[in-house]
Amino acid sequence: MKTFTEDIASKLIDGKKVSLSIQEDLKKQVEEIKANGGKIPHLCAILVGNDGGSETYVAAKIKACENIGYQSSMFRFPDTVTEDELIQKVDAINHDPDIDGLIVQLPLPKHIDVDKITNYIKPEKDVDGFHPVNLGKLLLGLPTYVSATPFGIMQLLQFYNIETAGKHCVVIGRSNIVGTPVSVLMSRNTNPGNATVTLCHSKTKNLKEIALQADIIIAAIGIPGFLKGDMVKEGAVIIDVGTTRVNAPETKSGWRLKGDVDFDAVALKASFITPVPGGVGPMTIAGLLANTMKSAKKEIYK
Ligand code: NAP
Repeated sequence: MKTFTEDIASKLIDGKKVSLSIQEDLKKQVEEIKANGGKIPHLCAILVGNDGGSETYVAAKIKACENIGYQSSMFRFPDTVTEDELIQKVDAINHDPDIDGLIVQLPLPKHIDVDKITNYIKPEKDVDGFHPVNLGKLLLGLPTYVSATPFGIMQLLQFYNIETAGKHCVVIGRSNIVGTPVSVLMSRNTNPGNATVTLCHSKTKNLKEIALQADIIIAAIGIPGFLKGDMVKEGAVIIDVGTTRVNAPETKSGWRLKGDVDFDAVALKASFITPVPGGVGPMTIAGLLANTMKSAKKEIYK
């Protein structure tokens, strides 16, 4: 009989491993481009203020670019930056032929209208896939930059050969960056996809009953430990998107990341489960880099 640790280890979806394999493939593509004298992909980031989390995320994205041979650049602004100043920078980047992808790290200070900035990025360079044109294309099933987290989830399901066709997928959370796009992707006539999707949110009644019917649960809520063991049927596939910082005096930083899933209880019943950290999180960088390659190769916008 398997011990608890052995049982959990056999069910873990390893996002780090999948992300590294995608990055390895992108690195080979960069080498080919170099050998053929083509243009090296270039990702640019705008970072506003001194938020510790944002600094870490941008640094990780820049480091990943270096690792696989992309060019990268970063523009920093103080949190007193005006909307006009940011728009001017986005405009300049939009017109810079050397830059293939632009990300504006969120959150932005309260006095900045996030939608205004996001919508100002040229869809061709919106490698985060947040622009209405790119989200609209995703809804219509047209080629587009799929935003990093939904991309990552679909890649994990594919890598682990998880059957999705005809399965009941319950997505909890309907944000524009995770829940809504992943619910669309899961219902599309593709593989992975072809699932019957139920999209739940804070006004959903009987969420437990709905979750209990799910073959696949994608939790993107932002409430640590929300999905309990008694909300999950035996053999369900669990994708935990949540990343909330919770107090952890035993760590050097004083915090750790906790997912939306009550891991120990749910893992006992699951057939596959993503850990937090190390599950969906690492995939977002792979998604961003993959979109930047598509932009450099003009695969989406000719
Ligand atoms: P969000 O914009 O705050 O959306 C949260 C969603 O959860 C909303 O649709 C909300 O419903 C729903 N919700 C809240 N309370 C609920 C409840 N009691 N029952 C059912 N649904 C409920 O969040 P997000 O941006 O999608 O992020 C969700 C989590 O994923 C966060 O922890 C975030 O940090 C994490 N995240 C991680 C990654 C990654 O790379 N791993 C990427 C993105 C986000 P309403 O619409 O009704 O308010």
